[in-house]
Amino acid sequence: MYYGNIKRFDVADGEGVRVSLFVSGCRNCCPGCFQPETWKFDFGKEFTKDTEEEIIEALKPRHIQGLSVLGGEPFEEENQAVLAPFLEKIKATFPKKDIWCWTGYVLDRDLQEGGRKHTEYTDRILKCLDVLVDGPFVLAKRNLMLKFRGSENQRLLRLKDGVVVAVE
Ligand code: SF4
Repeated sequence: MYYGNIKRFDVADGEGVRVSLFVSGCRNCCPGCFQPETWKFDFGKEFTKDTEEEIIEALKPRHIQGLSVLGGEPFEEENQAVLAPFLEKIKATFPKKDIWCWTGYVLDRDLQEGGRKHTEYTDRILKCLDVLVDGPFVLAKRNLMLKFRGSENQRLLRLKDGVVVAVE
């Protein structure tokens, strides 16, 4: 897996002060995407053990509420294989911090068993998440007033053990 950026002090992508990881590679090709350079799977730098350590260090301060994972597309198959063990490690190391993730896929259509992006890793990732923002960016439904979302079709789903407990 490759990543385009790590923000160590992000107040825009999720609640509180966060560390944000922007992974590379996306096949959604949403018209109007504001970062098409991240569609390439080799955009940026390779995600290595050193990258994991860098993120773990950045998460340690008390004022950091959690980790946000954005793209690109975290739920492309190649990225799921790396993110599943990584997010499990983050959850085990920081059980009180939360993990948010953004996807252009739709949870109940694409990420559940039988869905086009459901892999052996998907359920493991979903179990680590506290919030999943799902759905493609739709230019015709763009709304700048929405918190943490770009268009009105996107949903902010609060999860517990991989199950949706609230929709916002
Ligand atoms: S899912 Fe995100 S990165 Fe991928 S095309 Fe859509 S807006 Fe762009």
